[in-house]
Amino acid sequence: MSILSCTDLRVEIGPKVILSGIDLSIETGQITAIVGPNGAGKSTLLSCVAGLRAPTSGTAALDGVALSSIKPRERARRLALLPQTPDIAWSVEARTLIELGRTPFIGARGQGDEDRVAVDRAMAAANVAAFEHRIVDTLSGGERARVLIARALAGEPEWLLADEPLTGLDPAHQLDAAALFRRMADEGVGVIVTLHDLSMALRLSDRIIVLADGSVLADDPPATALTPEVLRRAYGVEATLTQGPGGPLIDVIRRG
Ligand code: ADP
Ligand code: MG
Repeated sequence: MSILSCTDLRVEIGPKVILSGIDLSIETGQITAIVGPNGAGKSTLLSCVAGLRAPTSGTAALDGVALSSIKPRERARRLALLPQTPDIAWSVEARTLIELGRTPFIGARGQGDEDRVAVDRAMAAANVAAFEHRIVDTLSGGERARVLIARALAGEPEWLLADEPLTGLDPAHQLDAAALFRRMADEGVGVIVTLHDLSMALRLSDRIIVLADGSVLADDPPATALTPEVLRRAYGVEATLTQGPGGPLIDVIRRG
């Protein structure tokens, strides 16, 4: 088991406080959803936890070791970040892009059988094998999103940190991606996802962290995290939790 933790983490950008007083401890083998309004600090928190942004004060640590002191190559082997606005306007084949997920493992001798097997497995899991030789630029947004998931999987990470991975996927592919995250968590991977779809967060995750204004407003199992009071304070909306045929549903009634 591995633990990602934040201790009194604070991020300031210029005069602005983006995150403050963040104390968290997240385990592998679970899906942790981070939700919260636009600008709450979700992406900033993920990049701190991925070791890509140094906090202004406090620490983000992997198994007690500050991420800032872990070598980038080791960090990249253990943690895969799926960014929110990936910059992949590249004229390369999907397979080539997915192979980049193996970069932290490839030594001087270049790609080996193990790397090819991992790439094949990642492509099968993300359901992208059918377009492995298509140029990424020509794929639809949803296909591209799945290729990026495959790139993250190719590194067989201990942690997958995915920033709004379901945005831009149609309902069927959202379900596929959700099932894939669940399988990964069941296999012991630590999955942290930011989501806007609150009903999906309830159905998908083992734990929901609600961020608002740079602080943790709630941190609970799905059954108790998204109370009407939390939703009002986080989003400024009146919403109720109901039970639909497919699971819990958040019904947003009005601003309030
Ligand atoms: P979220 O992912 O929850 O929408 P972000 O972490 O992207 O939120 O951003 C949190 C806040 O930090 C926002 O108000 C955003 O405008 C601000 N912010 C993020 N990056 C920068 C930056 N480089 N310079 C100034 N403000 C930033
Ligand atoms: Mg964001």
